[in-house]
Amino acid sequence: MTHHNIAQRIQDLRTTFDNGQTRDLDWRKTQLSALERMMRDNEAAIAEALKSDLGKPYGEACTAEIDLVLKEAVHARKSLHRWAKPQRTGTPLAILPGQSFVEPTPYGVTLIIGAWNYPFQLVLAPLVGAIAAGNCAIIKPSELAPHSSALLKQLVERYLDSNAYAVIEGEADVAAALLEQHFDLIFYTGGERVGRIVMEAAAKHLTPVILELGGQNACIVDETADLAVAARRIVWGRFLNAGQICVAPDHVYVAASVETRLLEELKNAVTTMFGADPKQSPDYGRIVNPRHAARLQALLSGGRAITGGQVDVDNCYVAPTILTEVAADAPVLREEIFGPILPVLPYHTLEAPLAAINARSPALALYAFTRNQKTADRIIAATRSGSVTINDTVIFMANPNLPFGGVGASGMGSYHGHYSFTAFSHQRAVLKRGFALDAAIRYPPFTKQKLSMLRRVT
Ligand code: NAD
Repeated sequence: MTHHNIAQRIQDLRTTFDNGQTRDLDWRKTQLSALERMMRDNEAAIAEALKSDLGKPYGEACTAEIDLVLKEAVHARKSLHRWAKPQRTGTPLAILPGQSFVEPTPYGVTLIIGAWNYPFQLVLAPLVGAIAAGNCAIIKPSELAPHSSALLKQLVERYLDSNAYAVIEGEADVAAALLEQHFDLIFYTGGERVGRIVMEAAAKHLTPVILELGGQNACIVDETADLAVAARRIVWGRFLNAGQICVAPDHVYVAASVETRLLEELKNAVTTMFGADPKQSPDYGRIVNPRHAARLQALLSGGRAITGGQVDVDNCYVAPTILTEVAADAPVLREEIFGPILPVLPYHTLEAPLAAINARSPALALYAFTRNQKTADRIIAATRSGSVTINDTVIFMANPNLPFGGVGASGMGSYHGHYSFTAFSHQRAVLKRGFALDAAIRYPPFTKQKLSMLRRVT
């Protein structure tokens, strides 16, 4: 798509927005229903595209992509009247008589840029927020998941109002061309490096941004934890989507006294979930491309694999791998792994993992397994992160009542459920007054006495 075509498409959407069509709540609901139908009618095609792009297991395609978007859309449609209603708020004496409201209003024409690891969820869940809040939107899916990107374009054009919503496919140059244009809000999901590019481009137009980035999510297991349950939940969270998930536990700090037992349980959990040869498991995914598989292969030398370690770069396979004896300066600990490798590091006092966590930029998620409430509270109070989960991993994402987003280098802004609606809404201040009681006290000329009275009543 040329620069001219991109600019024209954005102008078309702006015309729709200016016409006021997207402000109508019933119209928004119709679009949300259409999105729900789109997900239901095309389950097989979506699962197939995800299989082609990421070898994504059918179960994961259903739960983490199709159902998550569906639930978000249904929740938004059913809550829309309540969410969109202007909220009455107090009015101080000096402004009486008058009525004050906070009214959520749409930003206008928005841009949603997605990453490849959850190619449907990461653009369609924000789109639910954009539609519910009354915006137009252009979606730019990731080029690294080409089957999903092509299907998204086809489906969005078929099911949604093309005067308000469009998918523009392409590589980084297309994303860059889009970013040159003036949008009213940009919602970006992806890595930190491009996050900075997006924010810089947005600054030129003073466009607000929501950045959903990544980072290194730590997981602490103390000596009181139920090690079998902890191991299952960690293995599940780490090896979902073959580890290519922004909220996966990146590494585990375990109390040294239970390290050996935890390692054993982690190993058992891998075998129970994916069998003796995970390559044959229908429930285990693939790496997005050989380049990333090779990148992950290089990280394996950072420790000793107690399970896994096998890599087939050409077929994008990296086995679920648990690493022990990891050197403190190993590359596998220096960057977000974004793959199926889990380093396990022993600690002697809780201060050590807390200090290590606080030495890094705040992550998207933090996990801790403990039966000790005081330890849990201490971990929560002593750290910063987009989210914190005690005694589980990743599953918090399935709660639409919790905001999903990062802080610091893991991002800014959040979404899911009502938070998606607020993310795509400007909270407009509305004050309505009549013409009565136009007290002279507020107008010049001011005497000392008049000013003193004014300061007392305002
Ligand atoms: P990616 O390579 O798919 O890039 C994301 C998007 O940015 C794509 O649409 C791409 O076209 C665009 N892009 C690439 N270069 C660009 C440029 N120069 N200018 C403008 N746009 C450009 O995805 P990625 O960055 O490899 O994604 C992985 C990262 O995303 C990880 O760090 C992960 O933690 C993070 N992530 C975060 C979330 C979240 O919800 N917070 C979800 C998924 C992934």
